Order: sequence, then C-alpha cells, then structure tokens
Amino acid sequence: MKLFRFGSPDHEHPGVELPSGQRIDVTHFGEDYDESFFASNGPERLAHWLTAHAHTCPDVAPDQRIASCVRRPSKIVCVGLNYAKHAAETGATPPTEPILFFKSTTALVGPNDDVVIPKRSEKTDWEVELAIIIGKRASYVELEEAMDYIAGYALHNDYSERAWQLERGGQWVKGKSADTFAPLGPYLVTKDEVPNPNALNLWLKLNGEELQNSNTDDMIFNVPTLISYISQFMTLLPGDVISTGTPAGVGMGLKPQRFLKPGDVVELGIEGLGEQKQTAVSFV
Ligand code: ZN
Repeated sequence: MKLFRFGSPDHEHPGVELPSGQRIDVTHFGEDYDESFFASNGPERLAHWLTAHAHTCPDVAPDQRIASCVRRPSKIVCVGLNYAKHAAETGATPPTEPILFFKSTTALVGPNDDVVIPKRSEKTDWEVELAIIIGKRASYVELEEAMDYIAGYALHNDYSERAWQLERGGQWVKGKSADTFAPLGPYLVTKDEVPNPNALNLWLKLNGEELQNSNTDDMIFNVPTLISYISQFMTLLPGDVISTGTPAGVGMGLKPQRFLKPGDVVELGIEGLGEQKQTAVSFV
C-alpha cells in the first residue's frame, strides 16, 4: 500500500494511492498516520477498511499539496557516513559502528515544498536517503527479528547546513534541524511492497545535473542491522523515522564545493518510493 498525506500545513489529511494510480482521500477512516495508527496495526486495518469503503472515498485533487507521509513522529534518528564512498568524500574514516544523530521533528515537510535556506546559512547541502518508518515499539531487538519492526519505507532528503554541522562545535543536530530540512515522502510504501530495502537505486539532481546515484546495497550497515543497533540505545516508537545515510555526491564533497542558492531546484528519488522536487528559497 502507498500511504500519503495531503492538504495545507495546518490541515493535513491521510490519503491512499490505489494500485491503479488513483489517489483517494481516506479522512473518513478516522485516523491520521501517527504513533497510535502504527501502534495498532493501522496499515492492515486500513487495507481491510478499504475493501468496503474505497469506492465511497473522494479523489484527491491533483493540485493538492503533498505533506510529510507520517504525522510528526516522536523522533527522527539519522545515520551518518553509512556509504563508504560518501565517508571518503567527507575525509572521514568509514565507521566501525553506526554513527547516530538526531534531526528535529519540526524540520519535517512535504516532498515538494520549498527548502528554506536558513538565516545566515552559507552551506546548505542535500542528501538523498532511504528512510525506515517503525511499525511497533522496538527495544533491544535481535537482528533476526529486526525486519518485523518496520511499517514501511519513504524517500527523505536529509538537508544539512555544513558549517553549523561541522564548524560550530559539538553534535551534528544544529546543522540538520532547520525548518524544511526533512522533506519526507511522497509515500510511505508498506514493507510488503519492498521485498529488499537493501537493493534500491537512489539518485539526486541539482538543476537537472545528476550528482548522487547509488544503490542501498552500498550501505555499510544495512536496514536490519540499523534497527537492532539503534534499539540497544533507545526505544523506537511506532511512526519513528530512521534515515539510513546518504551516498557520495553531496555538495561538500564536490571540488569545488557547491551549496544551495535561491532558485536552485533539487530533484531526487528512490526506486519504488517515488520522487521529490524542492526549490531553494531565502529565509524571509
Ligand atoms: Zn544524512
């Protein structure tokens, strides 16, 4: 199933894209895609509800804004330097254990919303990533059982202000958390439709020029390893997002380095999970 959310930022509603490509409004199901939805087998219950009600649901107008595919979760946990070539381009040694950092949940936006270059930013950069959406409470999860804790997958652009991330001291969170720095979606694709999350092509273009192009099979730590690992340090709640790291081709790794300017257009995608398009704008 492909779940999405739509509407203006303060009036977002749940939708479903049917296998035919028809996009329907499922507001009458009575739930949004949030922690309680995922905690109570929401995707399965919604699929069952649709067998009787899909034909009564209105279509979503094509000009509707698409929102983040999950309603604000308890946390966004990100993995740093999880592709060997990307680690090399940043000058870092590939990690022996996953590097974890947080991204503020207020950074979440829709997949095609403008990315706002923050006040006083000089190094706003892009990162196409596979995001995992957690389906049930996960604590001390064994590797063999890790895949049972997944609700689905989504496309994420882990926008990053490099000066704030790396030159201003301390943890990476300062460079990762500005408003609009986490476009998520268009879809949460349920895990039954993604047989192998570690074999997906992913790419990103800046103004039409392809700068990132890789496959999730290049990850140093794969999807089940990350879930099991993270759950040794914190409890993951239903709806939480894990962003699994970006491949080579970010702006700070280019020679010369390139960062976003107002008017730049960023397009990205992952096989089976849809595409995003953001236009960079100045903070006003
Ligand atoms: Zn990242």
